Amino acid sequence: MNELLGDISRRDFMKYCAGAAAVLGLSELELFEKVSEALASSSTKPPVVWLEGQDCAGCTVSLAGALNPPASALILDKLSIRYHETIMAASGYVAEAAYEETVRAGGYVLCVEGSIPIADDRFCMIAGRPFRRTVEEAAKNAAAIIAVGACAAYGGIPAAGPTGAVGVGKVVKNKPIIHLPTCPVHCDHLVGSILYFLATGTAPPLDKVGRPKMYFGETIHDNCRRRSYFDNEMFLTDWNDPEQKNWCLYEKGCKGPDTYADCAVRRWNDGQNYCVDCGAGCMGCAEPEFYSGMSPLYTADSKRSRDIMARKKAGLIPPLKEEA
Ligand code: SF4
Ligand code: SF4
Repeated sequence: MNELLGDISRRDFMKYCAGAAAVLGLSELELFEKVSEALASSSTKPPVVWLEGQDCAGCTVSLAGALNPPASALILDKLSIRYHETIMAASGYVAEAAYEETVRAGGYVLCVEGSIPIADDRFCMIAGRPFRRTVEEAAKNAAAIIAVGACAAYGGIPAAGPTGAVGVGKVVKNKPIIHLPTCPVHCDHLVGSILYFLATGTAPPLDKVGRPKMYFGETIHDNCRRRSYFDNEMFLTDWNDPEQKNWCLYEKGCKGPDTYADCAVRRWNDGQNYCVDCGAGCMGCAEPEFYSGMSPLYTADSKRSRDIMARKKAGLIPPLKEEA
């Protein structure tokens, strides 16, 4: 147990660090010590401003609901959440004053949850101001910017509606943005990215659409336990047929071959399970095209699914390598 990390045991902390340590070329213990040092060297807790636009607060719930280790022990106790509409006790003018004071001082981690409407500012107004302008303003003095969840990253489900919903990168230019899609955000991705920033002062290495490579470097399909059925074209067509129980979900619309995320290995709900193992197929919520570009979700009767099969037939999706 480390005094600075309070209730978080070293073993639990390592769960968050596993990806980040490998990317940094550090052992998990070295990263643990680096983050502890960063927290110790600051006389104040690192400040966080968390804005919510067109969202369902699901990403906040995903984070707050983490059980083991308790993400809240780090996020709420070790960081200073200056502004967060859903969890802060203050409201009205007091809340807005806390926001303004923090933004003036600068140097905070800016987390944005929810998309930003650009068709008309009136689709999302907070404290009488367009959300778009609030995001632009808060980004200026931020030390790090994290687009939390699919909506803030690329527009997400609201982008299928009439508001012209976009992700943070469409309104904040010339600043690096850590994109953490999936719907909702995975709490390990969020906590791990914040730890990486605390340890290094920089964003983790990102892929071409701004996602940390340590979490979004492989497809769901690369690690799926139904994969041998895909390779042998054994596709589940009847949910009620026990013989098909473990077969590939391609015919049920699975977008795993086109979706980069580590859900198949990290899993969700404290490592309990994830979409494909629940029999639901991957909806592609980690990709910029989610939601419209992945629809319809539960049938292979879509352009994307046909493209996946065409690539399979052309040998462009190589079969799983035999274990050495
Ligand atoms: S298509 Fe989906 S269910 Fe089938 S192997 Fe790929 S990820 Fe798994
Ligand atoms: S398996 Fe697919 S749909 Fe499920 S959370 Fe991961 S990326 Fe999203």
